[in-house]
Amino acid sequence: MHQMTLAEIARGLADKKFSSEELTKVLLARITQLDPQLNSFISLTEELALEQAKAADARRANGESGALLGAPIAHKDLFCTQGIRTSCGSKMLDNFKAPYDATVVAKLAAAGAVTLGKTNMDEFAMGSANESSWYGAVKNPWNLEHVPGGSSGGSAAAVAARLLPAATATDTGGSIRQPAAFTNLTGLKPTYGRVSRWGMIAYASSLDQGGPLARTAEDCAILLQGMAGFDQNDSTSIDEPVPDYSASLGDSLQGLRIGVPKEYFSAGLDPRIAELIQNSIKELQKLGAVIKEISLPNMQHAIPAYYVIAPAEASSNLSRFDGVRFGHRCENPENLIDLYKRSRGEGFGPEVQRRIMVGAYALSAGYYDAYYLKAQKIRRLVKNDFMAAFNEVDIILGPTTPNPAWKLGAKNSDPVAAYLEDVYTITANLAGLPGLSMPAGFVDGLPVGVQLLAPYFQEGRLLNVAHQYQLHTDWHTRTPQGF
Ligand code: GLN
Repeated sequence: MHQMTLAEIARGLADKKFSSEELTKVLLARITQLDPQLNSFISLTEELALEQAKAADARRANGESGALLGAPIAHKDLFCTQGIRTSCGSKMLDNFKAPYDATVVAKLAAAGAVTLGKTNMDEFAMGSANESSWYGAVKNPWNLEHVPGGSSGGSAAAVAARLLPAATATDTGGSIRQPAAFTNLTGLKPTYGRVSRWGMIAYASSLDQGGPLARTAEDCAILLQGMAGFDQNDSTSIDEPVPDYSASLGDSLQGLRIGVPKEYFSAGLDPRIAELIQNSIKELQKLGAVIKEISLPNMQHAIPAYYVIAPAEASSNLSRFDGVRFGHRCENPENLIDLYKRSRGEGFGPEVQRRIMVGAYALSAGYYDAYYLKAQKIRRLVKNDFMAAFNEVDIILGPTTPNPAWKLGAKNSDPVAAYLEDVYTITANLAGLPGLSMPAGFVDGLPVGVQLLAPYFQEGRLLNVAHQYQLHTDWHTRTPQGF
C-alpha cells in the first residue's frame, strides 16, 4: 500500500479498494517503524490524521471526489499548523504552537488531504544538507551515511522512503529541487507569487516559495493544484488563474525548444552527472524536443549575490524572535538587553547566527552600497540573462546539483563549500522563475537530478516535460533498499 503514488491512491479511494482511514493507519505504523533510521519527522499528528481521514471517507461516501480527498501528506515544519508545534527546525520555536493555519495548509485540508505530521528541516530553512536542524540531522534513505539534501530534507527523505506519497516543501535557493535530486524525487519550485507565503515562516521573503515534493510529475501536478492560487493575505501573491496542471501532462513534446547553457558544464560538475544529463537530453530528443546551446553569462555571480541578499532578508525577518513575543526565552534575564542576547544566543544555532551576522553587516551603513545594492544589481543581470534565453527556447535544462549527496558531516567545517553546491538552483530564485528537478540516474548508488526551468507561470510546461520523460524512463520508480 505504501508504494502507491497520489494518483494511484486517488483511483483506489474512488474505486473503494481501501479507505483513507485504512491507508492512514498503514502509513502511520510505517513511519513509527522506519523513521527512527531517518529522523524525517519532527512531529507526528496521528489524532488529526485519523480525524481528517474519517472526514474524507465520509465526504467520499456522500458522493464528493477529488484527487486530494483522503490523500496522506505531511508539511515541512515551517508551515504554520493551528494548535500544532511549528518549530522551523529551531530550538527558538520548539515550544511554538501556531495560532492559525498557513494558507497552504488550509487549502490542502479543505481539499481533503490528511496531515500525517510535520517534517524535519534545516533550521529556518538555512542549509542544503538538513544537518542544521535542532532536532538532529536527517539521513538519506539511499545511503544512511549521506545527507538527504536540504533544507526540505525531512519531506524528501520521508517521501523517498515511501513513508508517504508526497509532502509540502519550500525553496529559497534550491530547497525543493536539491533534496529532490539527492533522494530520487520530483520537486517543483513554482513561480514567485504562485503559492501563498502566508503562514510560511519567512527566511528570505523575496526568494521563498512553497511547492510540492513527490515521486512523479503527475503527483506534483496534483499537489501543486491544491497549493497554488491568489491569496489576499500575501501581498506578493499573484492574481492569475491557476491552470489545470494535470490536463496538460499528456501534451506532445514535438518541437519543444530546450536550451542547454554552456556555463552549466564547467569544471565544478561531476563528469558522471554530466553524462547522465546528456542521456536525459537524448531521451527528450527522441520525444521530439530540439536542443539549442544557450548562454547565461552572469551565472557565476549568482552565489555571491544570493549569499548577501538571503542573509540580509533573514537578518531582518528573524529580528522578531526576541524572547518577548515568540518562542524561546532565557532564564532570569537581568535586563532587556540580556533578555535579547541570551534568548537569541540560546535559541538560534550556529548557521542561523552566522547568516544573521552576515546579513546585518551587509545592510549596515557604509556597506549597504558595496554589498546589498551590488547584489541587487547582479540579481537583475541574472534575470535579464533568463529573459534573453527564453526568447529563443521554451525550457532550460541542466543538472540540479554539481555533485551527488555528500556524507553526513563532510561540509560542516566549511560552510562556503556547501554554499557552492547551490550553483544551479539559486538563479531561479533570484529571477523568481519556476524550476523542477526530476530523477535522471545514479552515481555510486546515489540519485542524480536533472533540472528544468521555464518562463514565469509555466509550471504546467515543466510538469508536462517531466511527465513525458517519466513515461519513457524508470529512474523515478526505483526504491531505496530497506524501504
Ligand atoms: N542552500 C540554500 C541556503 O542555505 C537554500 C536554502 C533554501 O532554499 N531554503 O540558503
